[in-house]
Amino acid sequence: MGKILSFLYPPRCPACRDIMEDDEIYIHPECRGKFSLITEPRCFKCGRTLQDEDGDICPECRKKRHSYEYGLALYRYNETAQAAMIDYKSNGIRRNGNFFASEAVRELGRLLKRLDPEVLVPVPITEKRYHERGFNQSEYLAERIGAALNIPVDNEILFREKSKKDQKKLSGVERVKNTENLFSSVDDMPYKRICIVDDIFTTGSTIEGCTRVLKENGAIEVGFLVIFSGIMSNN
Ligand SMILES: [Zn+2]
Ligand SMILES: [Zn+2]
Repeated sequence: MGKILSFLYPPRCPACRDIMEDDEIYIHPECRGKFSLITEPRCFKCGRTLQDEDGDICPECRKKRHSYEYGLALYRYNETAQAAMIDYKSNGIRRNGNFFASEAVRELGRLLKRLDPEVLVPVPITEKRYHERGFNQSEYLAERIGAALNIPVDNEILFREKSKKDQKKLSGVERVKNTENLFSSVDDMPYKRICIVDDIFTTGSTIEGCTRVLKENGAIEVGFLVIFSGIMSNN
């Protein structure tokens, strides 16, 4: 970072937001634990932590049928995650995105390489959001992860249609239904194995909607990689 820029916008720790004395590292070593790393064993479908008795797939994923083949998630969504995501998405602090991407590569990179997707496809955001933020947070993550792992990124095969209803006002079931119509893709799909990249996985309806449209148009194996998984809990 240039001298003037780093004076105006000093690099800050993504967890505690204090200025970093050492610009070479992304996060204070003592702040690492504030992000809740999802460790093995993980559910192969959704990436969340498994209990001993679960087998390969968590009870949630056994109940629901998902169209995607696999899921990788880096951290549980907690208060630190929420604040760091607001800084990243709404306040435009790309450094947080750099940190998330580099941690995703370190923790999940080998596993993702073994799953061998041909391409990373970021979840598209609406045009309105794009104009507000000036960037697509998932595309930024995908590009950094792809560059580090030598996997191409394609942001020109999956599109977001204009939403008829505001997603946030809908219940879980309605969301899945509505999300089915939210995405569209090219019909001459150039890839068979695709890994979707998004910042956060909550109900899974976004990933499900993207997967369905990619598969309808010719993809065979679709998985996802997200930085955060889960809904904020109070404990
Ligand atoms: Zn810190
Ligand atoms: Zn699961």
